[in-house]
Amino acid sequence: MTSEKLLGIIWDDKFKDISFSHHMIRDISKERIRRFIEIARKKLQFIEIRPEIATVEDLLEIHSKEYVNKLQEVSRIPFSGYLDGGDTVHYPGIFEDVLLVLGASKTALKFSSYVDYVYVPLGGFHHATYSKPMGFCPINDVAYLVFQLLMKKEKVAIVDVDAHHGNGIQEYLYDKPVLKINIFAYDGKFFPGTGRVDERGAGEGKGLNYNFPLPLGSGDDAFELALKILDIVESFSPTYIVVVSGVDGHKDDGLKSLELTCNSYNLLGLKVRRLARTSKVIGYGGGGYGRMSSECMVSFLQGLLGKKEELEVPTISSGEIIKKVKETLSLLLSFSQDFS
Ligand SMILES: [Zn+2]
Repeated sequence: MTSEKLLGIIWDDKFKDISFSHHMIRDISKERIRRFIEIARKKLQFIEIRPEIATVEDLLEIHSKEYVNKLQEVSRIPFSGYLDGGDTVHYPGIFEDVLLVLGASKTALKFSSYVDYVYVPLGGFHHATYSKPMGFCPINDVAYLVFQLLMKKEKVAIVDVDAHHGNGIQEYLYDKPVLKINIFAYDGKFFPGTGRVDERGAGEGKGLNYNFPLPLGSGDDAFELALKILDIVESFSPTYIVVVSGVDGHKDDGLKSLELTCNSYNLLGLKVRRLARTSKVIGYGGGGYGRMSSECMVSFLQGLLGKKEELEVPTISSGEIIKKVKETLSLLLSFSQDFS
């Protein structure tokens, strides 16, 4: 079934040459964005929107002055290196790229008044914190977007599905009245090492933080089970659903974690579509470092537009993994979900 819902994709050709990932996977990361727009133009119906450029003031709304100064300084030196211990690169001109990437979220927010779904392919930098870059994320564009939405008195639910826990988003919004659901790979030490099930939020955010760790090696069947946790979004009745749909849980991803196929991302899109009957959706591309990353991004959008597609042979998880996922699901569902 095709959709009458409107999708907007924030796009600038400069996106093709931007990556903040480790040098070893920067080319793969850029290739993912290049191929994404090619495939999207062939397979999807959407409105293309040029992003504006954010300002230093915008950046200061989510990052410390000290850190913003550092970003400006490294951007001026004619060498590249790492902003952190060895994950997130800096290079000449990074500051301009960061402002463009943040501008995409500003434009996405404005444009969301006119369309049902807005997608930012180069975005979803969920690891960065107030004063630090982390995990290929020099800034936290999702935190920026959500703070803007809160200022507009919108009711926001975040669905963060990526191989890695969105530690930055959790930290920024732990005590904010935002429903946060994270589905990620975790075995007790997998990067970034955060995301315990008992981290449930504090203050105004108490009871609103849900972490769903998937065992490494989980396949499509385990992922489908885990998606049941998203049903709680419905009872929260958000006006906006912000989705980080990182595709690095694909079985062929370079950062090996889960055993998913693009089918899982399509299912995620279909599920979000069902949940968003009365909400706007702003989606982000998140991470992805494999040969099928771009296809998975488009598959997610196909789902959002109401089209089911099975691009690959579904993967099956071990009995032990399924058991674990069922246990986590029932534990999370047992938490009180009275959002009134
Ligand atoms: Zn990731």
